[in-house]
Amino acid sequence: MINVILFSFYRYKLIVHFRFLFLICLISSNAFSQDILVEWQNKSNKDINNNNPTLEIKKIFKSENIERKLEEVCESYYVDENESFSEEQANKILDIILSTIGASKRFVLKACKNTSNAFATTKNGIRYIIYDKEFMEEIDSNINYWFNMWVLAHEVGHHINGHVLAPDLSIEDRRWEELEADKFAGFVLAKLGATLSQASSPLDKLNHPEEDNLKSRYPSKLKRLDAVKQGFNNAIGIPTFYKKTLFNSAEEYFYSAYEKGIYKDYYAAISDYTKAIELNPNYAMAFYNRGVIKNELKDYERSIQDYNSAIELNPNYSMAYYNRGLIKDNLGDQSGALADYTKAIEIYPEDPIAFYNRGIIYKNKEQYYKAITDYTDAIQLNPNYAEAYHNRGVIKNILKNYKGAIEDYNKSINLNPNRIALNNRGISKNNIEDYYGAILDYNKAIEIDSDYADAYANRGISKYYIENKKGACDDWNKAIELGFNNAKQWVEDQCN
Ligand SMILES: [Zn+2]
Repeated sequence: MINVILFSFYRYKLIVHFRFLFLICLISSNAFSQDILVEWQNKSNKDINNNNPTLEIKKIFKSENIERKLEEVCESYYVDENESFSEEQANKILDIILSTIGASKRFVLKACKNTSNAFATTKNGIRYIIYDKEFMEEIDSNINYWFNMWVLAHEVGHHINGHVLAPDLSIEDRRWEELEADKFAGFVLAKLGATLSQASSPLDKLNHPEEDNLKSRYPSKLKRLDAVKQGFNNAIGIPTFYKKTLFNSAEEYFYSAYEKGIYKDYYAAISDYTKAIELNPNYAMAFYNRGVIKNELKDYERSIQDYNSAIELNPNYSMAYYNRGLIKDNLGDQSGALADYTKAIEIYPEDPIAFYNRGIIYKNKEQYYKAITDYTDAIQLNPNYAEAYHNRGVIKNILKNYKGAIEDYNKSINLNPNRIALNNRGISKNNIEDYYGAILDYNKAIEIDSDYADAYANRGISKYYIENKKGACDDWNKAIELGFNNAKQWVEDQCN
């Protein structure tokens, strides 16, 4: 008697992985391609016979919300797309500030919940202004206008002045940065038409010692007032018609390109990254980002060249290794991909996705125990990684640890119910001769996708074992109708 088992394996493809740019919702799509392996096995001893008659590949595209990683800078970010106040509105307010100096944006603007107002920060070399929506909305509706504008201008001032904003900066340097940001705020408010008293009064509400002291990163109030006044006076007499149309620093081009990338204006983004690289040939991040865009445009060869350059400039650029590995993986260069993923993991062993993808390669190379280790690591790094549980389940099934496989599928299905995991759990249940349990899983898979040929074929097998021959033949015929041709032989043998 022949028992046919079908199973599928997720393939997780992060096509674009703007990983240090991840705080912004970027072009990210993960393709799952599903390899359908057909195993033939004998019911009595369950020996797998290596006769694999078909190998079919299907692709399911699914987009992932990269923004969840924002928690690295912001604990609770906005996910509700129906929020009233848009990023575009926030950008308009920011443009008001930038227009006073004719500068272009050299940072990323990001809304974050539970932020008291706004703050400047850097993460993985990218500059951010994190703001609270209510705070920004107040500016929009003229509530606390000068105060809020002052705070925002101060934060922008940190970036415009190229401040490091590092926690290990000496207290003197931090105070110096604060004074420069204050000066910038005074300048901006003067340009926007505030009086000196309007530009100075926000300092009444802000934290700082009355006199310099060793504990505070903030300078004394007197010094801050003086800085605001200096900025304010500098603004007087400088013509306001100056508006910048050309950028003149690599960094400005970089942020302009970055923004164009976000809005999927890819060719313009490439052009700006190229200018950034011309101005600063050691700009590893610009090479990396240009590589990401080229990858998005499916120009894989040039994308790899950019990652090569990025890695040459920064040999510890784990994300460049990772992304290069992904392209090699997609192009079928498994050994190259394996080497790159391994290097990426060596440098940065905290990324569950790198373990996940390497696990697929180990699985393809039939190094199943290594694959299991990778999935276990991925799960440890992200305990809600549904696909990692799933893939570990697939491998346990291959290793005939069916109960272990079912446990993993259970977790995967709880986290993300989907037809493939249900179908595969059905297979493992079938393997431990829990045919009724298997049929229930196939039913659910078919409920999700009524054209799921594999699930019909597999359900037919379980029905066959409970001696529901009519049901089995109906399912196999349905599977044939949906294109699963292997079932033809079974129908011929079993359904007269
Ligand atoms: Zn500050």
